[in-house]
Amino acid sequence: MIDVVVVGAGIAGLSTAFELHRRGVSCTVVERAARAGGVILNEEIDGYTIDAGPDSLLTQKPEGLKLCEELGLGDRLVSTKPPRLAFIQRAGRLHALPAASVLGIPTRLGPFLKTGLFTWAGKVRMGAELFVPPRRDASDESIGAFIRRRFGAEAVTYLAEPLLAGIHAGDVDRLSMHALFPRLVDAEEKYGSLLRAFRQRPSPERRAPNPKRAGPSAEHGVFRSLPGGLSEIVRALVAALPPGAVRLNAPVTRISRTGPFCVEAGVHSIDARAVALSTPAYVTAELVGMRDGELARLCGEIPYASTATIALAFPRGAVSHPLNGSGFVVPRVEATGILAGSWLSSKWSHRAPDEGVLMRTFVGGARDPGALDRSDTELVTLSLSALTPLLGIAGPPLFTRVYRFDRANAQHEVGHLTRLDAIERALARHPGLFVTGSGFRGVGIPDCVADARATAGKISEWLNRDTMNLRM
Ligand SMILES: Cc1cc2nc3c(=O)[nH]c(=O)nc-3n(C[C@H](O)[C@H](O)[C@H](O)COP(=O)(O)OP(=O)(O)OC[C@H]3O[C@@H](n4cnc5c(N)ncnc54)[C@H](O)[C@@H]3O)c2cc1C
Repeated sequence: MIDVVVVGAGIAGLSTAFELHRRGVSCTVVERAARAGGVILNEEIDGYTIDAGPDSLLTQKPEGLKLCEELGLGDRLVSTKPPRLAFIQRAGRLHALPAASVLGIPTRLGPFLKTGLFTWAGKVRMGAELFVPPRRDASDESIGAFIRRRFGAEAVTYLAEPLLAGIHAGDVDRLSMHALFPRLVDAEEKYGSLLRAFRQRPSPERRAPNPKRAGPSAEHGVFRSLPGGLSEIVRALVAALPPGAVRLNAPVTRISRTGPFCVEAGVHSIDARAVALSTPAYVTAELVGMRDGELARLCGEIPYASTATIALAFPRGAVSHPLNGSGFVVPRVEATGILAGSWLSSKWSHRAPDEGVLMRTFVGGARDPGALDRSDTELVTLSLSALTPLLGIAGPPLFTRVYRFDRANAQHEVGHLTRLDAIERALARHPGLFVTGSGFRGVGIPDCVADARATAGKISEWLNRDTMNLRM
């Protein structure tokens, strides 16, 4: 019998196992797929490095960078290439997000007044945020409701919807402000206004530069990646575990008994004192269903959105746009069929040979739930028709690739934190059973890593207590 079975080898499962191993706890990771990494996937094609899923680690949440350091990848971290511009599409044109924006919200007057992204009426309404009284009701609200209340409808259409909800491929009027952007909620409560809060805090640009090349200094932008993409982290995590600790092609279909648990995973049947489920919440729901109907219902209620990433490579000369930034987001009202376009070879070094450019589009999400029903050819055609007029593309792509993420984007909607409390209470009825992963306490990779490691800490403590109880 081993101490722990970790179910799912995404970043959450692998980080749980890494932390357990560091603490001297024996564990096996069982993964349904033929590879580890979950939604983290890079592919090398003809000298191009494609990020099919995530490509960036946010520096403001240091757990991702810290893990890289511990895995010996610290010196390989790279920052985004300058100029660090991000664009938003409006009326068929790309507008750079005003300099010194925080989560899309402009914090300096000059660049904000100059931008063509907002109408004058919209700018006046956004500036009036300073005088909007803070909400005194502590209940959760949607991102749309929060931004509309504070900055007006135009800020929802051109900022909150494509950017804040867009990174989750979610619905701006359903995603939870409290679960996803608690810092903004706190800023309203503490300062009465976000603009006032941002003026009082040193903006990221004004903080002291960190001399380390790509360390967590905003002088280098707020994102980091690795030359081979974030799959480097996955490979390093697997390598840091004992040989054979990760079993692939091992879908868990049943978890029976308690003390020890018996985990049936493909041809394997493993007895373990504890189980950490790091699967999508709807899979977690199925796996706990026989044990606890209420826990299964709560996990099953967490919604997921499906997206596809379409990677496209072109000869440099075929694209007339300078691609002078990381890419662009598309507000719903622009109705081009894509959610965003990311210029991978302008954003990061090492993604394309000198003579080529690599970009990708995202489709689907809450805006287009049926997107994955389309064929690869249809998704490429849709992407090309959105990109061609915007970027002045002449000629066909060198190659394209379509990656499908079916129910892979967890949606923390209004009320998520209340549901999470209920899940924690239900879990307390099942000693030795733990859950982690993007469906629960945080979606981005740094949050998944932080929660996974905290969960491993809880498991280790629980095992120690259990051992003591057995001895007494
Ligand atoms: C397209 C995309 C782009 C993103 N971009 C970024 C970004 O740039 N930066 C960032 O910080 N975050 C980003 N995210 C979010 C972040 O990548 C994810 O939230 C995070 O990687 C999820 O990790 P996870 O381990 O919780 O889940 P997953 O990666 O989904 O892993 C779950 C694992 O469980 C396995 N599994 C499922 N069922 C079973 C079963 N029955 N038995 C065994 N195994 C099973 C699955 O095969 C999978 O490997 C992005 C997400 C997507 C989809």
